[in-house]
Amino acid sequence: MKQVFENMDSRDHEEVVFCRDKDTGLKAIIAVHNTTIGPALGGCRMWNYDTEQAALKDVLRLSRGMSYKAAIAGLNLGGGKAVIIGDSKKHKNEILFRSFGRFVQGLAGRYITAEDVGTSVKDMEWVRMETRYVTGISRALGGSGDPSPVTALGTCAGIKATVKKHFGKDTLNGLKIGVQGVGHVGYHLCGFLKKEGAKLYITDLYENSLKRAVDEFNAIPISSDEIYDADIDIYAPCALGATLDDNTIPRLRCSIVAGAANNQLQNEDIHSQMLKDRGILYAPDYAINAGGLINVANEIDGYNRERAFRQAEEGIYDTLLAIYKRSENDNVTTHAAALKVAEKRMIDVAKLKNIYLPKKNVMGKRDNS
Ligand code: NAD
Repeated sequence: MKQVFENMDSRDHEEVVFCRDKDTGLKAIIAVHNTTIGPALGGCRMWNYDTEQAALKDVLRLSRGMSYKAAIAGLNLGGGKAVIIGDSKKHKNEILFRSFGRFVQGLAGRYITAEDVGTSVKDMEWVRMETRYVTGISRALGGSGDPSPVTALGTCAGIKATVKKHFGKDTLNGLKIGVQGVGHVGYHLCGFLKKEGAKLYITDLYENSLKRAVDEFNAIPISSDEIYDADIDIYAPCALGATLDDNTIPRLRCSIVAGAANNQLQNEDIHSQMLKDRGILYAPDYAINAGGLINVANEIDGYNRERAFRQAEEGIYDTLLAIYKRSENDNVTTHAAALKVAEKRMIDVAKLKNIYLPKKNVMGKRDNS
């Protein structure tokens, strides 16, 4: 089993904080992966991990992913993540999250937290009682609220960029798009795609969600397995991760994969190459679904919904075109190209620090006083 520093070395982490409070029962780990571009932002996951090693592995993996996601989205943020070890159905209470908030405050803005799997807006409002370094709070408290509409708009813009690259078209009019999962993001995505003139084929495990979207968007319902063989132009995964694997990729009849789900490729290197070999253009998931992150990042400067929507729509469109250009120039998969684009931004921003400017404050802004 790897030691903590060995683990940090292997993914190049800056800082890992183990938080323990015997009175509240809090056991949490905060991982700050990289702060070259700005403070490390990433959600706080609450999960009943089998072992402490599993919790550490998860927080290290997820925080690194956030550095790349923020860098490629053009945000002045680094990557971080936190995990609270515990059962989110049984062990949540005000004091636990306020205790976590105190540890976040202790990092003085190097890490900014948000909701994630197992935590909610309400939990973040408890965290907010102890620290200002928290995003994803309700709109009533000046936060950004539900990120799904922004994520969906960004995904729609990413689909348009991918269509532009692959078919040379500026419109989705008449294209057959299969949306897998019409939950929070998929439902809003269907609305945007419909407005663009797409013909929708949709699937969901929940009958009610499926019926609502079928009725509202005049979509054609298909079974959850049928989506892989469907005669569609674009497959948009908006449900669970790891749906692209050795079994499903050979079945695809579409020529574009572009959707909001996280971690779509079961194995990033192998399955991005399989898609490339089949001539299917893949929109890297963490680039196309960055709308949610762009939304919460907007809270830092005082939330403005219009600005968040615009940044997601225009930013994700341009980012994907840049990834496709790099992929073509270097003859690498779009997944590999996305990593290179993100790494280049981190390296370029680091060079800016060669020019002296008066000190920044903790939220990454210049102190003009
Ligand atoms: P959600 O739970 O609201 O919706 C997911 C839907 O997918 C549900 O309706 C579920 O019934 C359906 N589903 C699950 N398995 C399915 C299957 N095998 N076939 C068909 N349907 C299936 O989740 P969400 O918030 O809409 O997020 C969807 C995806 O997008 C997730 O992977 C999430 O991590 C990712 N994502 C979401 C956001 C956001 O802003 N909510 C941001 C970035 C990424």
